[in-house]
Amino acid sequence: MSKDSDAIVIGAGAAGITASIKLARTGLAVTILEARDRIGGRIFTLLDPECKAHVEFGAEFIHGRPLEIWNLLNRRKIRITEVDGDTWCVNDGQLGRCNFFSEVDQILEKMDDRKPDQSFLEFLEECCRKSNLGPPQEEAKKWALSYVSGFNAADPTRVGVHWLVKGMRAEGKIEGQRAFRAEHGYADLIDIFQQQLNDTGVAVQKNTVVENIQWQPGRVQIVARGPNGTTTFSGSHVLITVPLGVLQARLDENGAIRFVPELPEEKQNAINDVVMGKVIRVTLRFRGRFWKDLPRMRKKRGKTMDGMSFLLSHDDWFPTWWTHEKQPFLTGWAPFHCAERLSGQSESFVVETALQTLHRLLGVSVQELETLFEQAYCHDWQSDPFSRGAYSYGKVGGDGMEEALGRPIENTLFFAGEATDADGHNGTVHGAIASGERAAAEMLAVLGKGKSSKLKMRSSE
Ligand SMILES: Cc1cc2nc3c(=O)[nH]c(=O)nc-3n(C[C@H](O)[C@H](O)[C@H](O)COP(=O)(O)OP(=O)(O)OC[C@H]3O[C@@H](n4cnc5c(N)ncnc54)[C@H](O)[C@@H]3O)c2cc1C
Repeated sequence: MSKDSDAIVIGAGAAGITASIKLARTGLAVTILEARDRIGGRIFTLLDPECKAHVEFGAEFIHGRPLEIWNLLNRRKIRITEVDGDTWCVNDGQLGRCNFFSEVDQILEKMDDRKPDQSFLEFLEECCRKSNLGPPQEEAKKWALSYVSGFNAADPTRVGVHWLVKGMRAEGKIEGQRAFRAEHGYADLIDIFQQQLNDTGVAVQKNTVVENIQWQPGRVQIVARGPNGTTTFSGSHVLITVPLGVLQARLDENGAIRFVPELPEEKQNAINDVVMGKVIRVTLRFRGRFWKDLPRMRKKRGKTMDGMSFLLSHDDWFPTWWTHEKQPFLTGWAPFHCAERLSGQSESFVVETALQTLHRLLGVSVQELETLFEQAYCHDWQSDPFSRGAYSYGKVGGDGMEEALGRPIENTLFFAGEATDADGHNGTVHGAIASGERAAAEMLAVLGKGKSSKLKMRSSE
């Protein structure tokens, strides 16, 4: 078997798809090699058969108004709704309204990227030791810690203040503190991508795990394992969009890619100096929205949790929860150290732990929760060989590492993916899309529209 392509892209996530479409629109013949049996990567939506509602395993929220996503959805007239509702907090076992947001903002605003870089934990200890803090500020410190490690799936002893400031600035430009959902969740974006892939004639080879990239300037040979054995693709350029966790994997691990010769030192350093964050999220479907009448012990005229959007706590397992409009779903979010303990465990352990957490937070007995519980949706992105983590963050002293991660090598190997975004949007869908746009432009600058660099594929079968 022999087939020609002008460009090969590894990975059919948001970055790889975006890049492929951009390349194909210039008339190039593009092939994507994708390890999974589906496109989307860390975007993965299923339809709950009972409620006919969309449930996410990976990305769920559109953070702010990034044009990369909004333009695609708006063009198709897809309804986008802002996540709205009350945020409830559990503090010292007490369920109530949260009253720390402005104090947390004040703390975060003290981060300064003109000073030498330090970890968020060091910053927190230093910044807030200097001033005379009362109990509300001490409490705000704890919430700031939860927020930073929760939102970024990051270890506060490793995540760098410079990286956090960059992210906050980038967020500020797109109203990133607001969260939105598309009508059918991220499935809407994947439908658009699929349509564009069809329209531009991009060939997507699923179930194709790239194992080896042999390269020299202007020439690459890619060995991939597929359902019909090993296939070799050869050509002049390749765009690699696999997650950072895959680039960091040991060579004997499933999904890992061996580069021959090894990647240059600058690239290896960048791979090691950006960190893959960890998250376990579980969405539980209950027989009804049992929380809407809670807290039961409150006075009759007290506000109920019917309008709850988020529930925050310092719980050791699932500190953050959120609702899904009027659906009977609750999603639990276990970042960083919580995820480390849950990763690799059975789904029944994750569900049991989640129910125990809800018991602690809401005061409903485990027995009652078990009776109400119907279905769980959970994916362990850490144990998944094709992601090996949730999404990336920058560590202390890691300035410029995302840029280095995305930099092409010898105009031959090109890199994209959320971890390569150098504008402060790592760990997001729109950051991944932007990185795909950037990498495609870099490859086009080298390839032009010339057809001289035909990539050839031959099967060893
Ligand atoms: C639990 C979770 C929640 C999230 N929540 C949000 C959110 O609310 N909002 C938001 O904006 N972002 C969120 N994100 C982040 C967002 O999902 C990612 O930033 C984005 O989807 C990454 O896209 P990508 O193209 O860079 O990588 P991926 O989507 O991971 O694509 C890379 C592709 O490479 C493939 N691949 C890997 N190894 C190989 C190999 N050896 N050979 C061939 N193919 C290979 C993978 O299968 C994958 O399809 C979340 C992520 C997770 C895990």
